[in-house]
Amino acid sequence: MPVLVPNTLDEAITMLADTPGAMVLAGGTDAMVEVNAGHRRPLDVVAVNRVAELRSWTYDGAAAVVRIGAAVTYAELMEPPLAELVPALAEASRTVGSPQIRHAGTLGGNLGTCSPAGDGLPVLAALDALVHLASARGERTMPVAEFMIGVKRTARADDELITAITVPVLDGWQGYSKVGVRNAMVIALATACVAVDTPGRSVRLAIGSVGPTIIRCSEAEQLAAAEVDFTARTASVDTVARFGALAAAASRPIDDHRATADYRRHAIGVLAARLLRRAFPHE
Ligand SMILES: Cc1cc2nc3c(=O)[nH]c(=O)nc-3n(C[C@H](O)[C@H](O)[C@H](O)COP(=O)(O)OP(=O)(O)OC[C@H]3O[C@@H](n4cnc5c(N)ncnc54)[C@H](O)[C@@H]3O)c2cc1C
Repeated sequence: MPVLVPNTLDEAITMLADTPGAMVLAGGTDAMVEVNAGHRRPLDVVAVNRVAELRSWTYDGAAAVVRIGAAVTYAELMEPPLAELVPALAEASRTVGSPQIRHAGTLGGNLGTCSPAGDGLPVLAALDALVHLASARGERTMPVAEFMIGVKRTARADDELITAITVPVLDGWQGYSKVGVRNAMVIALATACVAVDTPGRSVRLAIGSVGPTIIRCSEAEQLAAAEVDFTARTASVDTVARFGALAAAASRPIDDHRATADYRRHAIGVLAARLLRRAFPHE
């Protein structure tokens, strides 16, 4: 299959417009697995990992946002200063695959695949990230919650490139947790991200691997916002327990060959409660 290798964003967009149905290839850690397994037979490939605009990130301190190019890798997300600006994304990145996968795999590819178990996605959902798309028809930006529409289904059109993800930089604790059948090289059975916005007095919770796509747990978020003390960083034992229970109740897991729905629901409750306790360590 022909592989087109653009050097600029404009070239990449033109190539996608000129080769309808072409497969975008970033790190290839999902796409090539599908091709090798015969699940996907692209006629053309547009390999975007030489496009500098997609490989870089910028921080706008005044707006308190980081704009992360779609082809930025997990290994790059794990390094300061990016890791200090969005610590939960760094934490999630550390749980991805092996060093080889973390050096090749990209955040844009995680979004492109849109698996409910994608480790970057609960963090992007909890932080209300924005996804930027571009094609020869123009550019558009949408909340990540609108971009992810189902199991491996996104709002991206065939000729669109994910160019970047804008992530708000919050003033507050944030963290990510994952349960799998072992500690490394594992597809998650349950994941959770808690992000605290201390000046905004909000606690965000997003959960993964327990529904068709990532779920925001609004009832748990409202409970936490009403009951924690943002200044003293306290949360009662009862608040932490009810936060976990509401997270479990918001999950929509299924039984599959990896775990039962009951186990996944239980795991979500434990992860959410532990994360809230880490965010508010005092009783
Ligand atoms: C051994 C192994 C272990 C893994 N472990 C984990 C894990 O622990 N956690 C996890 O979340 N994932 C894991 N993965 C899956 C994979 O590494 C991630 O989903 C990764 O983020 C994919 O990124 P990529 O750059 O390799 O994407 P690719 O494979 O290049 O692309 C993935 C999909 O996104 C599309 N795409 C990529 N970039 C763009 C773009 N800029 N615009 C539009 N579409 C685009 C592609 O067309 C394709 O459909 C693992 C994979 C392997 C092989």
